[in-house]
Amino acid sequence: MQSRIYDTIIVGAGGMGSATAYHLAKSGVDVLVLEQFQRGHTFGSSHGETRIIRFFYDKPFYTELMKTAYTEWRDLESVSGKPLLFITGSVGIGAKGNPYGRATRQSLDAAGVESEWWDAAQLAERFPQFRLTDDMEILYQKDTGFLRAAECVSTHLRLAEQHGAEIREETQVTDINWQTDVPTVRTENTQFQGRKVIVTAGAWAGTLLAELNLPLTVTKQQVCYYQPTDSERFQPDRFPVFTEVTPDGEFIYAVPAFGAFDKGGGVKIARHGRGQVISPDTPERTPDADYTAHIDAYVQERLPELGKTTHTEVCLYTETPDEDFIIDAHPHCPDLLIAAGFSGHGFKFCALVGRILSELVQTGKTGFDIYPFRIDREHKISSGIPRLQS
Ligand SMILES: Cc1cc2nc3c(=O)[nH]c(=O)nc-3n(C[C@H](O)[C@H](O)[C@H](O)COP(=O)(O)OP(=O)(O)OC[C@H]3O[C@@H](n4cnc5c(N)ncnc54)[C@H](O)[C@@H]3O)c2cc1C
Repeated sequence: MQSRIYDTIIVGAGGMGSATAYHLAKSGVDVLVLEQFQRGHTFGSSHGETRIIRFFYDKPFYTELMKTAYTEWRDLESVSGKPLLFITGSVGIGAKGNPYGRATRQSLDAAGVESEWWDAAQLAERFPQFRLTDDMEILYQKDTGFLRAAECVSTHLRLAEQHGAEIREETQVTDINWQTDVPTVRTENTQFQGRKVIVTAGAWAGTLLAELNLPLTVTKQQVCYYQPTDSERFQPDRFPVFTEVTPDGEFIYAVPAFGAFDKGGGVKIARHGRGQVISPDTPERTPDADYTAHIDAYVQERLPELGKTTHTEVCLYTETPDEDFIIDAHPHCPDLLIAAGFSGHGFKFCALVGRILSELVQTGKTGFDIYPFRIDREHKISSGIPRLQS
Protein backbone atom coordinates (compact mmCIF):
# COMPACT_ATOMS: atom_id res chain seq x y z
CA MET A 1 0.00 0.00 0.00
CA GLN A 2 1.35 3.41 -0.93
CA SER A 3 1.11 5.86 1.95
CA ARG A 4 0.35 8.86 -0.25
CA ILE A 5 -3.31 9.79 -0.55
CA TYR A 6 -4.19 11.64 -3.76
CA ASP A 7 -6.93 14.25 -3.83
CA THR A 8 -8.43 12.56 -6.91
CA ILE A 9 -7.73 9.43 -8.90
CA ILE A 10 -9.08 9.26 -12.44
CA VAL A 11 -9.49 5.86 -14.08
CA GLY A 12 -9.14 6.19 -17.87
CA ALA A 13 -7.25 8.77 -19.92
CA GLY A 14 -9.54 9.01 -22.96
CA GLY A 15 -11.62 12.00 -23.98
CA MET A 16 -13.40 12.42 -20.63
CA GLY A 17 -10.56 11.46 -18.29
CA SER A 18 -8.03 13.72 -20.00
CA ALA A 19 -10.35 16.75 -19.83
CA THR A 20 -11.16 16.03 -16.19
CA ALA A 21 -7.47 15.72 -15.31
CA TYR A 22 -6.82 19.09 -16.93
CA HIS A 23 -9.65 20.91 -15.12
CA LEU A 24 -8.76 19.44 -11.74
CA ALA A 25 -5.00 19.93 -12.04
CA LYS A 26 -5.39 23.51 -13.19
CA SER A 27 -7.48 24.15 -10.05
CA GLY A 28 -4.59 22.91 -7.93
CA VAL A 29 -6.05 19.47 -7.16
CA ASP A 30 -3.52 16.67 -6.72
CA VAL A 31 -4.46 14.21 -9.50
CA LEU A 32 -3.39 10.71 -10.45
CA VAL A 33 -4.60 9.34 -13.80
CA LEU A 34 -4.43 5.58 -14.40
CA GLU A 35 -4.67 4.39 -18.02
CA GLN A 36 -4.60 0.72 -18.97
CA PHE A 37 -2.95 1.31 -22.38
CA GLN A 38 -0.55 3.92 -23.72
CA ARG A 39 -1.99 7.39 -24.23
CA GLY A 40 -3.40 7.86 -27.72
CA HIS A 41 -4.22 4.14 -28.14
CA THR A 42 -6.86 3.03 -30.64
CA PHE A 43 -8.86 0.45 -28.63
CA GLY A 44 -11.42 2.83 -27.09
CA SER A 45 -13.66 5.66 -28.31
CA SER A 46 -11.59 8.84 -28.62
CA HIS A 47 -8.94 8.06 -31.25
CA GLY A 48 -8.94 9.27 -34.86
CA GLU A 49 -8.59 12.71 -36.40
CA THR A 50 -12.04 14.24 -35.99
CA ARG A 51 -15.35 14.38 -34.12
CA ILE A 52 -18.35 16.51 -35.02
CA ILE A 53 -19.25 19.42 -32.74
CA ARG A 54 -22.71 20.88 -33.12
CA PHE A 55 -25.55 22.63 -31.37
CA PHE A 56 -28.32 20.70 -33.06
CA TYR A 57 -29.96 18.04 -30.94
CA ASP A 58 -33.56 16.97 -30.66
CA LYS A 59 -33.19 17.08 -26.84
CA PRO A 60 -32.93 20.74 -25.78
CA PHE A 61 -30.72 20.14 -22.71
CA TYR A 62 -27.84 19.07 -24.95
CA THR A 63 -28.15 22.23 -27.05
CA GLU A 64 -28.03 24.33 -23.87
CA LEU A 65 -24.94 22.51 -22.57
CA MET A 66 -23.21 22.99 -25.92
CA LYS A 67 -23.15 26.76 -25.37
CA THR A 68 -20.55 26.29 -22.63
CA ALA A 69 -18.87 23.33 -24.34
CA TYR A 70 -17.95 25.50 -27.33
CA THR A 71 -16.48 28.11 -24.95
CA GLU A 72 -14.46 25.47 -23.12
CA TRP A 73 -12.93 24.21 -26.38
CA ARG A 74 -12.05 27.75 -27.44
CA ASP A 75 -10.44 28.32 -24.04
CA LEU A 76 -8.39 25.17 -24.50
CA GLU A 77 -7.21 26.42 -27.88
CA SER A 78 -6.14 29.73 -26.47
CA VAL A 79 -4.35 28.21 -23.47
CA SER A 80 -2.56 25.57 -25.56
CA GLY A 81 -1.97 27.67 -28.69
CA LYS A 82 -3.27 24.73 -30.78
CA PRO A 83 -6.07 24.95 -33.35
CA LEU A 84 -8.51 22.25 -32.23
CA LEU A 85 -11.98 23.39 -33.34
CA PHE A 86 -12.86 24.04 -36.99
CA ILE A 87 -16.18 25.59 -37.97
CA THR A 88 -17.60 24.44 -41.31
CA GLY A 89 -21.37 24.84 -40.93
CA SER A 90 -23.58 21.79 -41.39
CA VAL A 91 -26.44 20.55 -43.50
CA GLY A 92 -28.93 18.14 -41.97
CA ILE A 93 -30.65 16.27 -44.78
CA GLY A 94 -33.97 14.44 -44.49
CA ALA A 95 -37.28 13.82 -46.20
CA LYS A 96 -39.54 16.88 -46.13
CA GLY A 97 -41.27 17.13 -42.73
CA ASN A 98 -39.19 14.39 -41.04
CA PRO A 99 -39.72 14.42 -37.24
CA TYR A 100 -36.02 14.55 -36.36
CA GLY A 101 -35.59 17.73 -38.42
CA ARG A 102 -38.63 19.34 -36.72
CA ALA A 103 -37.49 18.44 -33.19
CA THR A 104 -33.97 19.63 -33.90
CA ARG A 105 -35.19 22.95 -35.24
CA GLN A 106 -37.35 23.39 -32.13
CA SER A 107 -34.34 22.81 -29.86
CA LEU A 108 -32.27 25.32 -31.78
CA ASP A 109 -35.05 27.91 -31.74
CA ALA A 110 -35.64 27.41 -28.00
CA ALA A 111 -31.93 27.96 -27.32
CA GLY A 112 -31.76 30.99 -29.60
CA VAL A 113 -29.37 29.28 -32.02
CA GLU A 114 -29.85 30.37 -35.63
CA SER A 115 -30.65 27.84 -38.35
CA GLU A 116 -32.20 27.92 -41.82
CA TRP A 117 -34.36 25.58 -43.86
CA TRP A 118 -33.06 25.10 -47.38
CA ASP A 119 -34.52 23.22 -50.33
CA ALA A 120 -32.53 21.04 -52.74
CA ALA A 121 -31.96 23.96 -55.11
CA GLN A 122 -30.46 26.14 -52.36
CA LEU A 123 -28.18 23.27 -51.32
CA ALA A 124 -27.04 22.78 -54.93
CA GLU A 125 -26.19 26.45 -55.18
CA ARG A 126 -24.12 26.51 -51.99
CA PHE A 127 -22.69 22.96 -52.01
CA PRO A 128 -22.88 21.52 -55.54
CA GLN A 129 -21.07 18.35 -54.42
CA PHE A 130 -24.40 16.83 -53.25
CA ARG A 131 -26.95 14.98 -55.42
CA LEU A 132 -30.38 15.41 -53.85
CA THR A 133 -33.98 14.95 -54.91
CA ASP A 134 -36.69 17.61 -54.62
CA ASP A 135 -38.57 15.74 -51.88
CA MET A 136 -35.79 16.48 -49.37
CA GLU A 137 -35.24 19.35 -47.00
CA ILE A 138 -32.07 20.66 -45.45
CA LEU A 139 -31.49 22.27 -42.07
CA TYR A 140 -28.43 24.52 -42.27
CA GLN A 141 -26.61 25.48 -39.06
CA LYS A 142 -23.60 27.72 -39.36
CA ASP A 143 -21.82 26.93 -36.05
CA THR A 144 -21.28 23.20 -36.63
CA GLY A 145 -17.79 21.93 -37.22
CA PHE A 146 -15.33 19.36 -35.99
CA LEU A 147 -12.77 18.86 -33.26
CA ARG A 148 -9.35 17.32 -33.78
CA ALA A 149 -10.14 14.42 -31.49
CA ALA A 150 -6.80 12.76 -30.77
CA GLU A 151 -5.15 16.17 -30.55
CA CYS A 152 -7.74 17.32 -27.99
CA VAL A 153 -6.99 14.31 -25.77
CA SER A 154 -3.23 14.75 -25.97
CA THR A 155 -3.53 18.50 -25.35
CA HIS A 156 -5.65 17.99 -22.23
CA LEU A 157 -3.18 15.41 -20.92
CA ARG A 158 -0.13 17.54 -21.65
CA LEU A 159 -1.62 20.59 -19.92
CA ALA A 160 -2.77 18.46 -16.98
CA GLU A 161 0.79 17.27 -16.54
CA GLN A 162 2.08 20.82 -16.75
CA HIS A 163 -0.25 21.62 -13.86
CA GLY A 164 1.19 18.72 -11.86
CA ALA A 165 -1.08 15.76 -12.68
CA GLU A 166 0.61 12.36 -12.58
CA ILE A 167 -0.32 10.08 -15.48
CA ARG A 168 0.50 6.38 -15.31
CA GLU A 169 0.12 4.51 -18.57
CA GLU A 170 -0.14 0.74 -18.98
CA THR A 171 -1.69 0.60 -15.53
CA GLN A 172 -4.94 -1.28 -15.52
CA VAL A 173 -7.29 -0.80 -12.60
CA THR A 174 -8.65 -4.17 -11.55
CA ASP A 175 -10.92 -3.12 -8.72
CA ILE A 176 -12.15 -0.09 -6.75
CA ASN A 177 -12.80 -0.59 -3.07
CA TRP A 178 -15.11 2.26 -2.06
CA GLN A 179 -16.25 0.66 1.18
CA THR A 180 -13.22 2.00 3.08
CA ASP A 181 -12.89 5.53 4.56
CA VAL A 182 -10.69 6.55 1.66
CA PRO A 183 -11.47 4.75 -1.61
CA THR A 184 -8.75 2.37 -2.78
CA VAL A 185 -7.98 1.71 -6.42
CA ARG A 186 -6.23 -1.57 -7.09
CA THR A 187 -4.07 -2.60 -10.02
CA GLU A 188 -2.43 -5.96 -10.60
CA ASN A 189 0.69 -5.03 -8.63
CA THR A 190 -0.23 -2.17 -6.36
CA GLN A 191 -2.95 0.03 -5.01
CA PHE A 192 -3.60 3.76 -4.65
CA GLN A 193 -5.81 5.82 -2.40
CA GLY A 194 -7.78 8.88 -3.45
CA ARG A 195 -10.20 11.04 -1.47
CA LYS A 196 -12.24 11.07 -4.63
CA VAL A 197 -12.18 8.56 -7.48
CA ILE A 198 -13.60 9.25 -10.93
CA VAL A 199 -14.35 6.46 -13.37
CA THR A 200 -14.06 7.66 -16.98
CA ALA A 201 -13.39 4.18 -18.33
CA GLY A 202 -15.46 4.36 -21.53
CA ALA A 203 -16.36 0.92 -22.83
CA TRP A 204 -14.86 -0.71 -19.73
CA ALA A 205 -16.99 1.22 -17.19
CA GLY A 206 -19.61 -1.53 -16.98
CA THR A 207 -17.03 -4.19 -16.04
CA LEU A 208 -15.23 -1.99 -13.54
CA LEU A 209 -18.49 -1.07 -11.80
CA ALA A 210 -20.10 -4.49 -12.24
CA GLU A 211 -21.95 -4.19 -8.91
CA LEU A 212 -24.07 -1.36 -10.36
CA ASN A 213 -25.22 -3.36 -13.35
CA LEU A 214 -25.17 -0.19 -15.47
CA PRO A 215 -27.31 -0.43 -18.61
CA LEU A 216 -24.35 -0.09 -20.99
CA THR A 217 -23.99 -1.83 -24.34
CA VAL A 218 -20.65 -1.74 -26.15
CA THR A 219 -20.77 -1.87 -29.94
CA LYS A 220 -18.15 -1.93 -32.67
CA GLN A 221 -18.41 1.04 -35.04
CA GLN A 222 -16.68 1.76 -38.31
CA VAL A 223 -15.93 4.91 -40.27
CA CYS A 224 -14.93 5.09 -43.94
CA TYR A 225 -12.50 7.57 -45.48
CA TYR A 226 -12.58 8.96 -49.02
CA GLN A 227 -9.82 10.69 -50.94
CA PRO A 228 -11.49 12.36 -53.96
CA THR A 229 -9.43 13.28 -57.00
CA ASP A 230 -10.46 16.92 -56.67
CA SER A 231 -9.80 17.12 -52.95
CA GLU A 232 -10.06 20.93 -52.92
CA ARG A 233 -13.84 20.67 -53.32
CA PHE A 234 -14.11 18.75 -50.04
CA GLN A 235 -11.90 20.88 -47.81
CA PRO A 236 -13.53 22.38 -44.68
CA ASP A 237 -13.82 25.83 -46.30
CA ARG A 238 -15.84 24.41 -49.22
CA PHE A 239 -17.68 21.40 -47.84
CA PRO A 240 -19.79 21.17 -44.64
CA VAL A 241 -20.26 18.61 -41.94
CA PHE A 242 -23.42 16.78 -42.90
CA THR A 243 -25.93 14.38 -41.41
CA GLU A 244 -28.76 12.53 -43.08
CA VAL A 245 -31.77 10.55 -41.95
CA THR A 246 -32.24 8.37 -45.04
CA PRO A 247 -35.68 7.22 -46.22
CA ASP A 248 -34.78 3.77 -44.79
CA GLY A 249 -34.27 5.31 -41.34
CA GLU A 250 -30.48 5.09 -41.43
CA PHE A 251 -28.36 7.78 -39.83
CA ILE A 252 -25.38 8.89 -41.86
CA TYR A 253 -22.84 11.55 -40.86
CA ALA A 254 -19.78 13.03 -42.52
CA VAL A 255 -16.83 15.31 -41.85
CA PRO A 256 -14.99 17.25 -44.61
CA ALA A 257 -11.51 16.29 -45.79
CA PHE A 258 -9.01 16.65 -43.00
CA GLY A 259 -5.43 15.54 -42.56
CA ALA A 260 -2.82 14.67 -45.17
CA PHE A 261 -4.07 11.95 -47.51
CA ASP A 262 -0.78 10.03 -47.28
CA LYS A 263 -1.17 9.98 -43.49
CA GLY A 264 -4.69 8.58 -43.40
CA GLY A 265 -6.71 11.77 -43.86
CA GLY A 266 -9.78 12.15 -46.06
CA VAL A 267 -13.51 12.82 -46.02
CA LYS A 268 -14.98 10.73 -43.21
CA ILE A 269 -18.39 9.10 -43.66
CA ALA A 270 -20.15 6.64 -41.38
CA ARG A 271 -23.49 5.19 -40.38
CA HIS A 272 -24.46 5.76 -36.79
CA GLY A 273 -25.53 2.82 -34.67
CA ARG A 274 -26.39 -0.73 -35.66
CA GLY A 275 -22.93 -1.86 -34.58
CA GLN A 276 -22.14 -5.38 -33.51
CA VAL A 277 -22.22 -5.89 -29.73
CA ILE A 278 -18.75 -6.84 -28.54
CA SER A 279 -16.65 -7.07 -25.41
CA PRO A 280 -14.16 -4.18 -25.25
CA ASP A 281 -11.55 -6.72 -24.15
CA THR A 282 -11.56 -8.59 -27.42
CA PRO A 283 -8.67 -7.46 -29.60
CA GLU A 284 -10.98 -7.92 -32.60
CA ARG A 285 -11.21 -4.58 -34.43
CA THR A 286 -11.46 -5.89 -38.02
CA PRO A 287 -13.40 -3.65 -40.43
CA ASP A 288 -16.53 -5.14 -41.97
CA ALA A 289 -16.40 -5.31 -45.79
CA ASP A 290 -20.23 -5.36 -46.14
CA TYR A 291 -20.48 -2.16 -44.15
CA THR A 292 -17.88 -0.48 -46.35
CA ALA A 293 -19.76 -1.59 -49.49
CA HIS A 294 -22.97 -0.18 -48.01
CA ILE A 295 -21.42 3.25 -47.34
CA ASP A 296 -19.82 3.20 -50.80
CA ALA A 297 -23.26 2.62 -52.35
CA TYR A 298 -24.68 5.55 -50.38
CA VAL A 299 -21.79 7.78 -51.45
CA GLN A 300 -22.20 6.76 -55.08
CA GLU A 301 -25.73 8.15 -54.97
CA ARG A 302 -25.27 11.22 -52.73
CA LEU A 303 -21.67 12.36 -53.38
CA PRO A 304 -20.40 10.51 -56.46
CA GLU A 305 -17.22 12.61 -56.76
CA LEU A 306 -15.89 10.94 -53.60
CA GLY A 307 -15.32 7.60 -55.31
CA LYS A 308 -14.72 4.56 -53.12
CA THR A 309 -13.51 4.06 -49.56
CA THR A 310 -9.72 4.23 -49.32
CA HIS A 311 -9.42 3.11 -45.70
CA THR A 312 -11.49 2.51 -42.57
CA GLU A 313 -11.24 2.94 -38.82
CA VAL A 314 -12.91 0.95 -36.04
CA CYS A 315 -14.01 2.48 -32.74
CA LEU A 316 -16.35 1.62 -29.82
CA TYR A 317 -19.67 3.12 -28.72
CA THR A 318 -20.87 2.62 -25.14
CA GLU A 319 -24.61 3.10 -25.30
CA THR A 320 -27.34 3.60 -22.71
CA PRO A 321 -30.91 2.62 -23.67
CA ASP A 322 -32.07 6.26 -23.88
CA GLU A 323 -28.75 7.37 -25.41
CA ASP A 324 -28.22 9.90 -22.62
CA PHE A 325 -25.00 10.07 -20.62
CA ILE A 326 -24.40 8.88 -17.07
CA ILE A 327 -22.72 11.55 -14.91
CA ASP A 328 -23.35 10.94 -11.23
CA ALA A 329 -21.94 9.71 -7.94
CA HIS A 330 -22.00 6.02 -7.08
CA PRO A 331 -25.32 5.45 -5.25
CA HIS A 332 -23.51 4.11 -2.15
CA CYS A 333 -20.37 6.24 -2.21
CA PRO A 334 -20.44 10.00 -2.83
CA ASP A 335 -16.65 9.97 -3.25
CA LEU A 336 -16.83 7.78 -6.35
CA LEU A 337 -17.97 9.68 -9.45
CA ILE A 338 -18.92 8.06 -12.74
CA ALA A 339 -19.01 9.52 -16.25
CA ALA A 340 -19.96 6.87 -18.80
CA GLY A 341 -22.42 5.83 -21.48
CA PHE A 342 -21.60 8.63 -23.90
CA SER A 343 -23.59 6.74 -26.53
CA GLY A 344 -21.67 7.75 -29.63
CA HIS A 345 -22.11 11.50 -29.19
CA GLY A 346 -19.99 12.48 -26.19
CA PHE A 347 -16.79 13.85 -27.60
CA LYS A 348 -18.05 17.39 -28.20
CA PHE A 349 -18.86 17.52 -24.46
CA CYS A 350 -15.46 16.31 -23.12
CA ALA A 351 -14.16 19.77 -22.23
CA LEU A 352 -17.42 20.57 -20.44
CA VAL A 353 -17.72 17.18 -18.71
CA GLY A 354 -14.17 17.72 -17.42
CA ARG A 355 -15.25 21.03 -15.92
CA ILE A 356 -18.43 19.53 -14.43
CA LEU A 357 -16.55 16.65 -12.80
CA SER A 358 -13.96 19.05 -11.48
CA GLU A 359 -16.74 21.14 -9.89
CA LEU A 360 -18.35 18.03 -8.41
CA VAL A 361 -15.04 16.96 -6.88
CA GLN A 362 -14.26 20.36 -5.41
CA THR A 363 -17.68 21.58 -4.29
CA GLY A 364 -20.00 18.58 -4.48
CA LYS A 365 -22.24 20.39 -6.97
CA THR A 366 -22.38 21.94 -10.41
CA GLY A 367 -24.48 24.69 -11.91
CA PHE A 368 -24.89 22.73 -15.16
CA ASP A 369 -28.01 20.67 -15.77
CA ILE A 370 -26.88 17.08 -15.28
CA TYR A 371 -30.26 15.88 -13.99
CA PRO A 372 -30.92 13.95 -17.25
CA PHE A 373 -27.69 12.00 -16.60
CA ARG A 374 -28.40 10.58 -13.13
CA ILE A 375 -27.77 6.89 -12.60
CA ASP A 376 -31.15 6.07 -11.09
CA ARG A 377 -33.28 7.46 -13.91
CA GLU A 378 -35.66 5.14 -15.63
CA HIS A 379 -33.66 4.08 -18.68
CA LYS A 380 -36.42 4.22 -21.24
CA ILE A 381 -35.76 3.45 -24.85
CA SER A 382 -37.12 6.74 -26.08
CA SER A 383 -36.39 6.54 -29.77
CA GLY A 384 -39.82 7.58 -31.02
CA ILE A 385 -38.00 10.12 -33.11
CA PRO A 386 -35.08 8.89 -35.20
CA ARG A 387 -32.03 10.27 -33.45
CA LEU A 388 -28.77 11.24 -35.08
CA GLN A 389 -25.72 10.97 -32.90
CA SER A 390 -22.06 11.79 -33.41
C1 LIG B 1 -16.86 5.99 -34.72
C2 LIG B 1 -17.19 7.01 -33.68
C3 LIG B 1 -17.58 8.27 -34.08
C4 LIG B 1 -17.92 9.22 -33.14
N1 LIG B 1 -18.25 10.46 -33.56
C5 LIG B 1 -18.53 11.42 -32.65
C6 LIG B 1 -18.76 12.74 -33.08
O1 LIG B 1 -18.70 13.04 -34.27
N2 LIG B 1 -19.04 13.68 -32.13
C7 LIG B 1 -19.10 13.38 -30.79
O2 LIG B 1 -19.38 14.29 -30.00
N3 LIG B 1 -18.85 12.12 -30.36
C8 LIG B 1 -18.57 11.16 -31.25
N4 LIG B 1 -18.29 9.89 -30.84
C9 LIG B 1 -18.38 9.56 -29.42
C10 LIG B 1 -17.17 9.98 -28.62
O3 LIG B 1 -16.00 9.74 -29.35
C11 LIG B 1 -17.18 9.26 -27.29
O4 LIG B 1 -18.42 9.53 -26.64
C12 LIG B 1 -16.05 9.68 -26.37
O5 LIG B 1 -14.84 9.59 -27.06
C13 LIG B 1 -16.03 8.81 -25.13
O6 LIG B 1 -14.90 9.14 -24.34
P1 LIG B 1 -14.56 8.31 -23.04
O7 LIG B 1 -13.50 9.04 -22.32
O8 LIG B 1 -15.82 7.98 -22.31
O9 LIG B 1 -14.02 6.91 -23.57
P2 LIG B 1 -12.49 6.50 -24.09
O10 LIG B 1 -11.98 7.64 -24.85
O11 LIG B 1 -12.60 5.19 -24.66
O12 LIG B 1 -11.70 6.51 -22.73
C14 LIG B 1 -11.81 5.51 -21.76
C15 LIG B 1 -10.40 5.20 -21.29
O13 LIG B 1 -10.43 4.45 -20.10
C16 LIG B 1 -9.39 3.50 -20.16
N5 LIG B 1 -9.73 2.42 -19.22
C17 LIG B 1 -10.82 1.65 -19.27
N6 LIG B 1 -10.81 0.76 -18.25
C18 LIG B 1 -9.67 0.98 -17.55
C19 LIG B 1 -9.10 0.37 -16.41
N7 LIG B 1 -9.70 -0.66 -15.79
N8 LIG B 1 -7.91 0.84 -15.95
C20 LIG B 1 -7.30 1.89 -16.57
N9 LIG B 1 -7.80 2.48 -17.69
C21 LIG B 1 -8.97 2.05 -18.17
C22 LIG B 1 -9.42 3.06 -21.62
O14 LIG B 1 -8.23 2.38 -22.01
C23 LIG B 1 -9.63 4.38 -22.33
O15 LIG B 1 -8.40 5.01 -22.64
C24 LIG B 1 -17.91 8.91 -31.76
C25 LIG B 1 -17.50 7.64 -31.36
C26 LIG B 1 -17.13 6.70 -32.30
C27 LIG B 1 -16.69 5.35 -31.85
